[in-house]
Amino acid sequence: MNFKKIAEYFEKIESASSRLIMTGILAELFSEADSAEITKIIYLLQGQLAPAHKQIEVGMGEKYIEKAIAKAGGYSAGEVHSEFKELGDLGLVAEHFIKNKKQKSLFSAELSIEKVFSNLMKIATSSGSGSQDLKIKLIAELLNSASQLEARYLVRIPLGNMRLGIGDPTIMDALAINLTKEARQDKKLVKEIESTLKEKKEEKREAEFERKLRVKLRERIEAKYNVHSDLGSVAEKLKSKGVNGLDEISIEPGTPIRPTLAERLPSAEEIIKKLGKCAIEAKYDGFRLAIHKDGNKVTIFSRQQENVTPMFPELSEAVKKQVKAKDAIFEGEALAFNEETGEYYSFQITIQRKRKYNVKEMSEQFPLKLFAFDVLYIDGKSLMGLPFKERRKRLEKMIGKGKTLGLSDSIITDNPKEIETYFNERVEKGLEGIIAKDLNAPYIAGARKFAWIKLKRSYKGELSDTVDAVIVGYFKGKGKRTQFGLGGLLTAVYDEKEDVFRSVAKIGTGMTEENLSELEKILSKIKREKKPQRVDSGVEPDFWVEPKYVVEVLADEITKSPMHKAAGLALRFPRMIKIRTDKKAEQATTVKEIKQMFKAQRHVKLGE
Ligand code: AMP
Repeated sequence: MNFKKIAEYFEKIESASSRLIMTGILAELFSEADSAEITKIIYLLQGQLAPAHKQIEVGMGEKYIEKAIAKAGGYSAGEVHSEFKELGDLGLVAEHFIKNKKQKSLFSAELSIEKVFSNLMKIATSSGSGSQDLKIKLIAELLNSASQLEARYLVRIPLGNMRLGIGDPTIMDALAINLTKEARQDKKLVKEIESTLKEKKEEKREAEFERKLRVKLRERIEAKYNVHSDLGSVAEKLKSKGVNGLDEISIEPGTPIRPTLAERLPSAEEIIKKLGKCAIEAKYDGFRLAIHKDGNKVTIFSRQQENVTPMFPELSEAVKKQVKAKDAIFEGEALAFNEETGEYYSFQITIQRKRKYNVKEMSEQFPLKLFAFDVLYIDGKSLMGLPFKERRKRLEKMIGKGKTLGLSDSIITDNPKEIETYFNERVEKGLEGIIAKDLNAPYIAGARKFAWIKLKRSYKGELSDTVDAVIVGYFKGKGKRTQFGLGGLLTAVYDEKEDVFRSVAKIGTGMTEENLSELEKILSKIKREKKPQRVDSGVEPDFWVEPKYVVEVLADEITKSPMHKAAGLALRFPRMIKIRTDKKAEQATTVKEIKQMFKAQRHVKLGE
């Protein structure tokens, strides 16, 4: 498949007016691609060259892209820069200069997706002196052979922003659509679905069948993606082996698994009502890490599935010493912990350990302790299907003595009073609260299904928990804030079903002056001229931005609001607590959770 064709599809997707249309176009693109191409296309849609955990980043700054455009078009970097100031999007700038190229290139060949990938890979892997010139040359070379439209997307890739507005759920929907024809040959599956059909009339029955088949396929795809965070390779298996190709994918050390998520309930009684006898664990306020041990090789993944191994050398060392298994995958919360005083440092201190430089000094000053709380794999066997109580036993057996790795503090109870006492004691120690765990639940990757329930300390307001909201726009500063260029944020929560971010609050308080300039700096880079397709908002900000950054927000309560789109609910008196660098936009609080929080709040208020 040539890159021109892909660029044409990207353009159609970018200008599609609804998610449904987008999904249809995407399905068409997938059906045209072969199994090697589909993998690459999916990575590009995700704005990367390989799954995120492989950390292959093309990353080129705007200045260098400007130079590459100048080189390919026969213009000066100054001319390109002034056009960029005018248009605000280097993709469009590249389009402009390729259209008005001063000289026809001598060697211009049709661009294949392989050629594009090969140049981009060279860029991603070149470093050291002279590498910048080489990178500029490699992009310019591609631009030389590119049409206008190809140029638009070629420069957006190294900038890390494709502006297509497509999330993983939409990609999975499109893959499912693609598979329905083939899946109709699967007699067992067809029978299974037919037995659940409710419609009587033939025509309607057929539509119901098709809908249910898609849902089923989509579920299967997602279940695999949850345990194998590489959508490109999942798609490759589907393309080459069909639906049953999915069976060949299993969990393995080195490939991240999507984390299980916690639900909320407002009180200890409700937790016991829901789970009965359960485990109650301390909720540590650090960052979640997944540790993969493959013999002597330790890889550490963040909650966002980034490979953060180099940041925590003391953890890798401890894993080699303390873990009594050759291969393992387990999870825990890491925080800076003062062993001498038995004191937990605040999140502000812990988060400083997420750094690329001065790692050694900081690891000596604030060494981390990892409180392990789950295990998913030991020596060739997946433990995900085992009940939690069994996994905990294996975890306890697996972690040997030492001071860096420990187990999360935990009790088992069916008594709400006991939970409350435990909760209060943890909060007094400076912890966030507790997490209740269903003793019989398997590990549910990537989903929130009451296997875990969190209860956080109240921040005096009526809402006992904060909301993680995605920034979708911002407002210019007024008065004193004019100097920062940012005075407030428009934020949204995530509708997982529709893959859309729905506005929930305009936030003007809680930010320090430092926050304001930091936010302006990062947000101005991802400004969008129009409202991004995946955003649904009744409020118009001064600037729209790509949904990318998550902030933790505290509010007094959730109220009904005609202005906002999160099921007509909004946060009242919202204030920002912190920027959550550990969460991706799709990991923000969901519309469903906001609805539950609204309901729970009513229960509390009315004393129901
Ligand atoms: P939240 O980020 O507020 O949705 O709460 C869930 C997070 O709490 C998890 O993703 C972990 O990072 C963190 N956490 C802290 N202590 C524990 C624990 N004992 N068990 C599970 N998760 C924990």
